[in-house]
Amino acid sequence: RKKIAIMTSGGDSPGMNAVVRSCVRMAIHMGCDAYCVYEGYEGLVRGGDFIKQMDWFDVRGWLSEGGTLIGTARCMAFYERAGRLTAAKNMILNGIDALIICGGDGSLTGADRFRAEWPSLLEELVSTGELAAEQIQAYKHLNIVGIVGSIDNDLSGTDATVGCYSALARICLCVDLIEATASSHSRAFVVEVMGRHCGWLALMAAVATGADFLFIPEKPREDNWREEMRSVIQQHRKLGKRKTIVLIAEGALDKFGNKISPEEVRDLLADKNGLALDTRITTLGHVQRGGTAVAYDRMLATLQGVEAVKAVLEATPETKTCFIAITENKIVRKPLMEAVLDTKQVAKAIESQDFDGAMALRDAEFSE
Ligand code: ATP
Repeated sequence: RKKIAIMTSGGDSPGMNAVVRSCVRMAIHMGCDAYCVYEGYEGLVRGGDFIKQMDWFDVRGWLSEGGTLIGTARCMAFYERAGRLTAAKNMILNGIDALIICGGDGSLTGADRFRAEWPSLLEELVSTGELAAEQIQAYKHLNIVGIVGSIDNDLSGTDATVGCYSALARICLCVDLIEATASSHSRAFVVEVMGRHCGWLALMAAVATGADFLFIPEKPREDNWREEMRSVIQQHRKLGKRKTIVLIAEGALDKFGNKISPEEVRDLLADKNGLALDTRITTLGHVQRGGTAVAYDRMLATLQGVEAVKAVLEATPETKTCFIAITENKIVRKPLMEAVLDTKQVAKAIESQDFDGAMALRDAEFSE
């Protein structure tokens, strides 16, 4: 029987449990044994109790649970060949040569590297006497498939990542809550949301809540943003609006590469010689990651889990490592490293303030 392991890695996101549930059940449905690796790559390196066979009922009730019940971690050892060597040994000892990883671009990069190195890792394990030649016979190739779990929706090549719509829903709910009190006191709120290189959450939250002003990393405001913000908000107030919401993605910069700080925005809104608004700052922080997954993420996670199991069973040594995307509402397989490299290039372009380049890269569909 084929043995398939599932793990979650990197930052957690709502819907990861739904991914695990779906993969476990689909694997069992396809006549395979399903395993979970606890604590991401750390569990793979540690082995033993960190790798556990799962039964159909072990994942009962996981569809709606927030976070990841099998844990996730950043694992320094996996960056080193020695760590990956131990991880390979632990997989062989459990008879596993198929792995589904749900995580961000870092986790998926690690997965691709592991797959590429697999034959040489096995050779080394045999040559150093850690394993006998017969032990590796049936496990010559490692099949890996990625599912993107991230609240940021920052991976190229897919319309949505598992967790992004839950985080967006949470932000909208929080802004709704803030709006009620803002309106009562006629206050302004500067709300900071997650997103270091990717302003998707802030942008979509601004659209969905009708925010007055927005700052995102991909599109810095013109030099005169202070005057522009004042005039937009003044206009809204003149039209009778009793509340003001300014959204800032945590990675938002001005044209000169300086971080747009919530404190500066607050001081501008509160300036006695300007708008003189009673202004507060709310940093949403980890509230955005927590809680149950919204219906879209449960659906996406379940459908992608099913596809990931199919993909891992169909993979051959010749096929490129793939990840499961959603494109124009279809669940599709795409080459993993192209998407990861594209994503890294976008982040680099934003860091070096090549914003047009970043947008062009995001808009371009990479070749398959
Ligand atoms: P997030 O988007 O939340 O940051 P991520 O998956 O990108 O998620 P990382 O911390 O970059 O998070 O990666 C998670 C783990 O994946 C790392 O701790 C490490 O164990 C492994 N990993 C990441 N990049 C590599 C790499 N280049 N080689 C080997 N392992 C890696």
